[in-house]
Amino acid sequence: MNWIETEDPAVWSAISSEIDRQQDGLEMIASENYVSPAIQQAAGSVLTNKYAEGYPGRRYYGGCQFVDVVEDLARDRAKELFGCEHVNVQPHSGSQANMSVYLTALEPGDTVLGMDLAHGGHLTHGMKLNISGRLYQFKSYGVSEDTQRIDFDALAKSAREHRPKLIVAGASAYPREIEHAKFAEIAEEVGAKLMVDMAHYAGLVAAGLHNSPVPVADFVTTTTHKTLRGPRAGLVMCREQYAKEIDRSVFPGLQGGPLMHIVAAKAICFGEALRAEFKQYAQQVIDNAKALGEVLLGGGLKLSSGGTDNHLLLVDVTPLGIGGKQAEEVLDECGITVNKNMIPYDKRKPMDPSGIRIGTPALTTRGMGTAEMQTIGQWILDVLKAPEDSSLSDRVRGQIQELCRQFPVPAVRLASDDV
Ligand code: PLP
Repeated sequence: MNWIETEDPAVWSAISSEIDRQQDGLEMIASENYVSPAIQQAAGSVLTNKYAEGYPGRRYYGGCQFVDVVEDLARDRAKELFGCEHVNVQPHSGSQANMSVYLTALEPGDTVLGMDLAHGGHLTHGMKLNISGRLYQFKSYGVSEDTQRIDFDALAKSAREHRPKLIVAGASAYPREIEHAKFAEIAEEVGAKLMVDMAHYAGLVAAGLHNSPVPVADFVTTTTHKTLRGPRAGLVMCREQYAKEIDRSVFPGLQGGPLMHIVAAKAICFGEALRAEFKQYAQQVIDNAKALGEVLLGGGLKLSSGGTDNHLLLVDVTPLGIGGKQAEEVLDECGITVNKNMIPYDKRKPMDPSGIRIGTPALTTRGMGTAEMQTIGQWILDVLKAPEDSSLSDRVRGQIQELCRQFPVPAVRLASDDV
């Protein structure tokens, strides 16, 4: 029985089209992925009915005996996965997780050092319109112009000058491994606390393929839906000394009742990430990004920092005579979804920057490997070199649909058949 289709055809129509879009296109947005059927089922489960303000064993509502089990499972598995002293699995999103650290470690007006949005940082790392930038004095650091890697000399200099209370590491569009130990050294020197937002590469950390921030940072935040491949949500970890304050910051500081259906989905996600297959997936994500990068470089595109260590590529498309906006649009027309993105020291505007950001997690989850990346890389080059050629675009779109049929999306059928 499809209840949505029966009860609300208008909503079903949009969901049904989205199922087709996810199945028939190549999802290459670096922050997206496909959850397993088990995670999708938990996210659509009856736990959405339950209020559970508080924490296991200390709730403000009755009837929490079963959701307590779920939250304990999520906490225990997150601790095992990341080796942290304390974890709070309730943040509704990565932004909420970040705010919980700011609420714990800062007073309004305090100085913080975060990565420049235009160099790959995130909105919640001090963008003017975001609450982080409105409540706190964020100073930015970035990448050096020649290497396009984090400029630690400039960062240390800025830290000595501004004496921040907190340094925020982590990024949304940085294709290289982040050296957490270097951040920790600078934070220690200036007496700042260190927060690492590993939202993008948490799955690689979980698999042991990226150095872990947990041993060196006071606070570690993440989303659970990117490389980690869980439900759309957040997570915050910290040293035991901050445990009580972090818990208080999440609830009642920022949120009311936790989304227990999503906490259950997080528990399943951490369980999946503890398995050996997850490590294989994470390794393949990296191998695929490298393989794709080589094809694009060979075809005349420029890669920020010259390549990648992780799941994403920041690609300068201007050598082909087009901008990021047009690149996003022409790729979208043939079924490849990416996002336009500023590249460091971009001379163009945010709404039509020089670059696109491309990621491999979602296609890797579908089972695609380096052979498919060669093919897809060539399609990307063909289309970007002839953006006005609609017959080429139609042909590539057909080939993409054929490829997509060979690599079904894990949970898509569940949505149409079993809801
Ligand atoms: N932190 C980083 C580095 C991110 O890339 C993102 C999302 O893209 C977030 C935080 C925010 O996550 P959410 O969209 O769940 O609020």
